[in-house]
Amino acid sequence: AKSSGRNNFQFYTKEMNATSGERLSLESDLWHALKNDELFLVYQPQIDLRDGTVIGMEALIRWQHPKRGLIAPMDFIPMAECNGLIIPIGIWVLETACRHNLQLQKEGLPPIRVAINLSARQLSDRNFVESVQSVIEAIGLDPHYLELEVTESMVMHNVEDVVVTLNDLNKMGIQLSLDDFGTGFSSLAYLKRFPIDRLKIDQSFIFNCDSDPGDAIIAQTIIALAHGLKIKVIAEGVEKSEHLSFLKKNGCDEGQGYFISRPLTFDDLRMFLLTGKNP
Ligand code: C2E
Ligand code: CA
Ligand code: CA
Ligand code: CA
Repeated sequence: AKSSGRNNFQFYTKEMNATSGERLSLESDLWHALKNDELFLVYQPQIDLRDGTVIGMEALIRWQHPKRGLIAPMDFIPMAECNGLIIPIGIWVLETACRHNLQLQKEGLPPIRVAINLSARQLSDRNFVESVQSVIEAIGLDPHYLELEVTESMVMHNVEDVVVTLNDLNKMGIQLSLDDFGTGFSSLAYLKRFPIDRLKIDQSFIFNCDSDPGDAIIAQTIIALAHGLKIKVIAEGVEKSEHLSFLKKNGCDEGQGYFISRPLTFDDLRMFLLTGKNP
């Protein structure tokens, strides 16, 4: 048993070396990905649960790697946060999402908001507010159609500075949402200090909201809390018609998830908005 334990250990260290080597090359590849146009955004529609109209979309980043194929954000965003590349990548995301959203409006579609995900490092960057301001001005999107998503753990960190930043963004007319709500450290005491427009109920509470009484009460409580604070509430991870009926019955404002639509390429999104049909 001992010797097999040792073998396992050796095997494990080899694997670890391979992995850190891979990580190194992936890291240098990411430097090139931006300028080689290997990054792109997909958009997941968000609907008003009262009438089913599309009122927004969330931009989600993808990396089409020339050798490794499609890479999910979880496999490169943490690395980009570590090495600082998240700053230029974040600006690219903001520019691209605003440009696409304005293009839809220019094509005559009913205006909707686009939400982008922020990382902790962007929010604490001293130039953040200024760079957001200059991007939306350069592109010419009405800031009311831009939404920034932050998580509880991001705002709990360095609360005083974050309040200033979020207030600046709010004054510009940008919408702010609190992502993955319910999974981070409790921010209930701070909730009223942040100019948050929307809470996003984390998908982990939605998956079994129709069958697990605990998840149901959590979702209902988040909806009541949000409405009590005059904040909108959106559910993510809406995968089944049962989720949709639960959320409608309980007064949730908006929804997003595979049952409504998967994240779509920009062209497929445009088709979805034009025809109401999922390509
Ligand atoms: P998130 O912001 O919580 O995004 C929701 C994730 O759930 C997305 O995964 C989405 O594709 C997936 N999803 C949507 N509907 C459903 C559903 O009905 N069921 C299930 N099981 N999943 C669903 P994705 O695109 O892989 O993104 C993962 C995370 O990566 C995001 O989590 C976000 O934290 C981060 N991320 C994505 N794009 C960006 C970006 O541009 N910048 C930054 N900083 N982070 C990003
Ligand atoms: Ca999000
Ligand atoms: Ca606001
Ligand atoms: Ca989320």
